[in-house]
Amino acid sequence: MASVVIVEDEQRIRELMARVLADQGYHVETSSNAMDGLQAVVKSNPDLVILDMGLPDLDGSELLKMIRAVSQVPVIVATARGEDRDVIRTLDAGADDYLVKPFSVEQLEARVRAVLRRVGTDGRAGPIVVGGLVVDAAAREIRLDGDRLDLSPKEFDMLHFLAERAGEVVSKRELLAEVWRQPYGGSEKTVDVHLSWLRKKLGETAAESKYLQTVFGVGVKLVDPGT
Ligand code: CA
Repeated sequence: MASVVIVEDEQRIRELMARVLADQGYHVETSSNAMDGLQAVVKSNPDLVILDMGLPDLDGSELLKMIRAVSQVPVIVATARGEDRDVIRTLDAGADDYLVKPFSVEQLEARVRAVLRRVGTDGRAGPIVVGGLVVDAAAREIRLDGDRLDLSPKEFDMLHFLAERAGEVVSKRELLAEVWRQPYGGSEKTVDVHLSWLRKKLGETAAESKYLQTVFGVGVKLVDPGT
């Protein structure tokens, strides 16, 4: 099973994350400050790092730079700063994903799974399965009930992203930032258009949705229609 180093100064959150991930079978090490965290990363060479941005001795983004100087280990940043520009800056600085505090246990588990799956080290690497949908990122192939879908690159990226977050509502703004890399500009219409194309290929409509559920005013989520 994969190993995870958690760097978080807040004891309650640190212990909760450690317990949740240990229960899932991950090997977990924790540090309460940046310097111990850096040492743990160098010494233990973990499969994943979860990094709090607000640390007592050093800003998390500084620690991220130091980690990046010595390691390509995937890093999930936990931040209270939910604003787009902070999130984008964090991703640009070399984070692989982020969690905005307060986050749920389910969200933590999903992000950890998604990042490890992406880098293929969770020991359960392989396609993401949501109902009859099989998303194989390595082969860049998505099948619906066994049939290969003919998708444009953006349609693939969008469906893949939604599959990684299956069951979670994803905002159009987030899709613009993650799939189109347009955190500020960009029109949500772009997302709407691609969503309607995707729906067509999945054999559904907005009014009669199966996999792609619109949550009005919030975004869209990918669900298993069989549950
Ligand atoms: Ca903190």
